[in-house]
Amino acid sequence: MNATTRMPVAFIGHGSPMNAIEQNAWTAAWRKFGAVTPKPTGVLMISAHWYTPGTHLTAMTAPETIHDFGGFPQALFDFQYPAPGSPALAQRAAQLLLPLKASLDQKWGLDHGAWSVLAHVFPQADVPVVQLSIDRTQPPQWHYELAKRLAPLRDEGILIVGSGAVVHNLMNWRNQTAAYDWAERFNDLVKSHLAQPDHPTLVNYERLGADAQRSIPTAEHYLPMLYTIALQTPQDHLSILTDGITGGSISMLSFALG
Ligand code: ZN
Repeated sequence: MNATTRMPVAFIGHGSPMNAIEQNAWTAAWRKFGAVTPKPTGVLMISAHWYTPGTHLTAMTAPETIHDFGGFPQALFDFQYPAPGSPALAQRAAQLLLPLKASLDQKWGLDHGAWSVLAHVFPQADVPVVQLSIDRTQPPQWHYELAKRLAPLRDEGILIVGSGAVVHNLMNWRNQTAAYDWAERFNDLVKSHLAQPDHPTLVNYERLGADAQRSIPTAEHYLPMLYTIALQTPQDHLSILTDGITGGSISMLSFALG
């Protein structure tokens, strides 16, 4: 790719881990995004499923495919996403995050928030991937501010991807439940604030009332979205890649800014 190209940033509503091995409207949209995006030199992934005390970066050369779930078919446990890691990207990201001290991790790997999505975006598994953990002890505004330090990576060929869900309540997800009205309302509200864009309202989601409380019972799936929007420049336009509510109250909203 051209060294002067600024990479987009993306947020993916990853839904069920089964999306890794299924082909559906959502995975088709993720594939299309990968196909139309200039091939990055690396991916920095912020997954809801690496929610830790402190901030960590995977820094191994060959991250393991972690099957961090239970109760799914063997085919999903057999699935491998053998993308290389990138110690150099981990070190560069750690440098940008200073004075915050992010540790260089050798134990994690790629969790399903990363590989279930990347299996479609880059099906050849030929783009190095580094994961950045989400510090579970910090408030939303802190994450939004921290993410801004990563902005130079966009001009260094790195694709930054948040992977979570803007509505994530698993109260009834294994049933074929129609979307709850509050889940649809909150998903629509998020989209309207993305379109404006109104970042302060999205960061301070805890003030958005009962629909927000039901949609975000715990923060880990919502926070990756704040990393994505924090990197939006005035020149970036919002592209909705795909959308929908599954399992009653899991948002599949995925978007790019670029
Ligand atoms: Zn998840």
